[in-house]
Amino acid sequence: MPDSSFFLGRIHIDPSNSFFYREIGLDGMIELSRISSLPLQQLSRTTIGTPITSLEMKIAFEQGYLIPYRKNNPEDPKTALDLLKIDRGGLTFRPEAGIYENVAELDFFSMYPSIIANYNLSYETINCKHKKCIHRLPTAGYRICTQKEGILPKTLKFLIERRKQYKKLKKKEGDKYDRRQIGIKWLLVVSFGYLGYKNAVFGRIESHETTTAIGRDLLLFVKDIAEKEDFSLLHGLTDCIWIYKKGATEEAYNKLKDNINKKLSRKYKGVLEETVPFEVKLEGVYDWIVFVPSKEDGVGVPNRFYGKFKDGRIKVRGIELRRSDTPRFIKEFQEDFLNHLSKAKNKKELLKKLSDIDTFFEKYAVMLREGKFCVQDLIVRKRLSKLVEEYRVKNDISETAGTLIKEGITVNPGEKVNIIYIKDSFIKAVPYEIYIKSPKPVDIKRYEKLLKESCFVFEFIKDRFYYD
Ligand SMILES: [Zn+2]
Repeated sequence: MPDSSFFLGRIHIDPSNSFFYREIGLDGMIELSRISSLPLQQLSRTTIGTPITSLEMKIAFEQGYLIPYRKNNPEDPKTALDLLKIDRGGLTFRPEAGIYENVAELDFFSMYPSIIANYNLSYETINCKHKKCIHRLPTAGYRICTQKEGILPKTLKFLIERRKQYKKLKKKEGDKYDRRQIGIKWLLVVSFGYLGYKNAVFGRIESHETTTAIGRDLLLFVKDIAEKEDFSLLHGLTDCIWIYKKGATEEAYNKLKDNINKKLSRKYKGVLEETVPFEVKLEGVYDWIVFVPSKEDGVGVPNRFYGKFKDGRIKVRGIELRRSDTPRFIKEFQEDFLNHLSKAKNKKELLKKLSDIDTFFEKYAVMLREGKFCVQDLIVRKRLSKLVEEYRVKNDISETAGTLIKEGITVNPGEKVNIIYIKDSFIKAVPYEIYIKSPKPVDIKRYEKLLKESCFVFEFIKDRFYYD
């Protein structure tokens, strides 16, 4: 990293400037530093791609590979039909929006990394040059090396195994092992993303396609087993399914899980002698879960839900609370209301609690009007998608970025701006950084509207008939 200078003789980590430090603390960083061979100071200033590449390089180096300084590997030619068959992402179902009781979520343990490890998918193993390697991959049909374990599979096996150990230790020893396993989980996730990225050192689009193709196959296989045993599928997304059977106990779901795992290991054997077994785990059984529809057409949306597990955990995906452009006061509002909902043990109790939404909305609207939130709570962070001049119609983003540029601050497409809505006849939105120098009255009405919009995820139930 040419633009950084490091202190000698000490370790310096800048908490305000280190993603890793914020997310996984010192324990997690030491773990990543140890396995990637990146010095701690350097690690603290990088993004997740750097440690995984470093680890892959280390393993390649240990195996005696020469690593090209720059890559040159165009894709092998494919017909349109080939592309249609294999070049798709993960499998996604659209759930029917509404409230459901006693639903189980089954998740694959590191699905994509396990596929890569078991089918030996790596830059140098696809369509390899060995005469003996005639084995073709399921679904995508590329030839795969069965003589030598690839660099990426070797890397991932090491990470999967290590993460499993930490997950076990976490149960006994707590958080410090949790932070380590989260760090490793990121490496696993990124390693897959890098597969399809042609500039990544070990990336190769064919392995990316094969991985997602086998992934879809696995999810359908699991779905079929569940349905054969009279569970209904509510939702499926890449490596998770949400299933339901009236009156099913946690024990029944666990039994189904064991059955699935047995059948998985029988059918999906992999191409190497040493494999990591495919495994689904019971993420939990929900007392209730709410799948939220799209505001536009009222149809269910993949990965937009909130629910409460029997053990009290709340899981939330895709609603405002989880989005990075949502102002803090709305996050607080949704969190507050979810906390209220979390006391409901079944659908009936939940419906009753959901009807309190107006009271909660009113409470937060009053807080807004009375100025109980500070300006930081009102920041709406949005990304500039093109140059300011290229916005044909002026909007809050271009207005805010334009002001910054006038003040001599460069903003490039892709960067985020911090917007404050103000009450003014000319300018509707100003950058937070300018606002704090010369404050103006904020546009409470506009914030109230945002607050109202964020009620949708709780209110849509009212307009529908959701009783069984
Ligand atoms: Zn081979």
